[in-house]
Amino acid sequence: MTKIIGAEIVDVRFPTSLELDGSDAVNVDPDYSAAYLRLVTDEGPDGYGLVFTAGRGNEVVVAAIQSAVDLLPDEEVETLLGHLGQVSKALVHDSQFRWIGPEKGAAHMAAGAVLNALWDLKAKQAGLPLWELLARMSPEELVEVVDFTHLRDAITEAEALEIFTRGQDGKEERIAALKQHGYAAYTTSAGWLGYSDDKMVRLAKEAVADGFTLIKLKVGASVDDDVRRMRLAREAVGPDIKIAIDANQIWEVHEASAWINALGHDVYWVEEPTSPDDVLGHARIRREISPVRVATGEAVQNRIIFKQLLQAEALDFMQIDSTRVAGPNENIANLLLAAKFGIPVCPHAGGVGLCELVVHFSFFDFAVVSTALENRVIEFVDHLHEHFVAPVTVVNGRYQAPGAPGNGAEMYADSVSRWTYPAGAGWEELRSSGRITAIASD
Ligand SMILES: [Mg+2]
Repeated sequence: MTKIIGAEIVDVRFPTSLELDGSDAVNVDPDYSAAYLRLVTDEGPDGYGLVFTAGRGNEVVVAAIQSAVDLLPDEEVETLLGHLGQVSKALVHDSQFRWIGPEKGAAHMAAGAVLNALWDLKAKQAGLPLWELLARMSPEELVEVVDFTHLRDAITEAEALEIFTRGQDGKEERIAALKQHGYAAYTTSAGWLGYSDDKMVRLAKEAVADGFTLIKLKVGASVDDDVRRMRLAREAVGPDIKIAIDANQIWEVHEASAWINALGHDVYWVEEPTSPDDVLGHARIRREISPVRVATGEAVQNRIIFKQLLQAEALDFMQIDSTRVAGPNENIANLLLAAKFGIPVCPHAGGVGLCELVVHFSFFDFAVVSTALENRVIEFVDHLHEHFVAPVTVVNGRYQAPGAPGNGAEMYADSVSRWTYPAGAGWEELRSSGRITAIASD
């Protein structure tokens, strides 16, 4: 029997703000960061999880992960991994810890990190990538890991069992197809708001040459700039490539439609037009900008907000995120909701590690849940993959099926120590060379 004998939680930050990679209307200077968790076992593999953040505040999540680790039932690893539904409830519904949520913010993301690490461990023990582990679980086992609390007015355990049971039909063929053809990706690398027009146009052309059929531009700082960038991007990519836009929550509800409509119907989707909590606001914007479609979800804090967005007919694409919610357990709930309401899931990725972690859910979704690929595409941003032991691979605009056992969260130990904040060698060098003048803890 295996025991968890420790948890290493590290504040890892990459100095991406120096190049304005990742810049948008709200996140003007992110340092892509990870509150990084290693669950250490006494024998066999360790489990890795992480929470993505934009820099400052990463230390809060690090502390929250320690609190979440302390909530783990004192059981052998095999017992924990055999009852991940119960473990998830122990972390998420703890009678004291839940006060600083409930089910939102740093506490919830911390629970997610622990659950991601446990699933990583489970997949590694099974010798399978997470998506395939999930695809090979029985419908009953899958229902057990999902927390249906506050969902049952939209979807019940019985309906979920029906969806998973239906998903067994043709599953082997879909798994084989995923391994052979991968899954469609789209790219945001061209469209960061801090990039010059020339850089954006060059990268947009490169994206098309690389086989992507959908690109995304950040918008929302200036309507004139957005109209010009949209025109330049369209000229660069030609008529057949879809162009989505992403406002990263910048607009007031009553202002959003005028801005979006100024960009015309050439926009494939508008992402995060307003506050991620504003369900009715999203529904109103969606009505006012039709036929342009609404996408949201990277900052949707739990399955209950997704439930409301679906019930209110407030979105056309659900953008799940791998580290915002309570781990694979809650993302399976999100996939179930999307399947029930007939909405495609187009995951959010980028950041650090988000591509590596989130692809598993789309692969699993096709294998067993929605069993569909139409209008479904996974975000890809080509930053920081070199730090991961099993990085994602995108070939000709398609994510290749992850093959390494686990969930993809494990980073190289050298990368973790070099970019540990604030004392890692990478940060020391930036300081001594004068590229950064001060850091928060100086
Ligand atoms: Mg976004």
